[in-house]
Amino acid sequence: MSTQQKTAETAIPVDQTKAAIRTRLADLRSAGASIALVPTMGALHEGHLSLVSVALANADRVVASIFVNPKQFAPGEDLDRYPRTLHADLQRLAEAGAHAAFIPATEQMYPDGFQTSVEVGELAAPLCGRSRPHFFGGVATVVAKLFTQTRPDVAVFGEKDYQQLLIIRRMARDLDLDVEVIGAPIIRHEDGLAMSSRNAYLSAEERARASVLSRAIRQAAEAIEAGAKPAAALEDAKGMLRAAGVADIDYLEARRSDDLAALADGDGVEARVFVAAHVGGARLIDNWPVRARSKS
Ligand code: AMP
Repeated sequence: MSTQQKTAETAIPVDQTKAAIRTRLADLRSAGASIALVPTMGALHEGHLSLVSVALANADRVVASIFVNPKQFAPGEDLDRYPRTLHADLQRLAEAGAHAAFIPATEQMYPDGFQTSVEVGELAAPLCGRSRPHFFGGVATVVAKLFTQTRPDVAVFGEKDYQQLLIIRRMARDLDLDVEVIGAPIIRHEDGLAMSSRNAYLSAEERARASVLSRAIRQAAEAIEAGAKPAAALEDAKGMLRAAGVADIDYLEARRSDDLAALADGDGVEARVFVAAHVGGARLIDNWPVRARSKS
């Protein structure tokens, strides 16, 4: 597919180089359009498309990027088998109303000699940062590059990856990137499982088992809202996961929504219950809000 080409099937322009996307967006900007960016790794599902809808509500033109970023995978993780469904992705983006797709090759993002990275502080320490220490630096680096390549007015990220959303928002502030980072709600399947490209790794039996993740964190969140001690609510939720055959739990924790500090007993603040667990060959993550309790 050549740069600037509009494919007949999708009718969405695709840019594969930084120069091409820059030119396209500069033209739009000089015509007065505001621009939203929706970064993705492809294998698009309704969760991704909901971000396009939020982007359309917040800007005149929406560009979605598709890039499976090698810098956020450690050796032995699923970079090589990560699902790639480019043709269907372009179709879906067009149907969702996106105006352009930016699909850079790895050499575009990380040319020979590349050696500069974004280092993330405290927000990257807990949760996914603990078991995937390389991960958020890789994410922040590629998103910083995408922001400078596309210079969007707004960028939309899913609350599904809540820690990532906070880190990107913080990075935009800390590095004066001049982009508004908008969070979008988690889109779920009917049984509650959060949509994820990695759900494709699950067999039918594992897929059915995976639905316990959202039930467990929801139960814990509701118990905490009702006044239970976080530690007790989380223990119950872990028991629920184990009883359903999900024994390989990376974490199940309640943390404050603003800074991810651990939730202490009786904290009347907005919080979330976060889970990461392995089901079959997939590492799945999810989170559920705990509404602040009124002090009365
Ligand atoms: P990914 O392609 O997995 O890197 O995700 C790209 C963007 O889509 C990120 O901002 C994710 O948080 C978001 N996303 C992924 N799954 C969902 C979902 N089920 N609901 C809402 N947003 C999602």
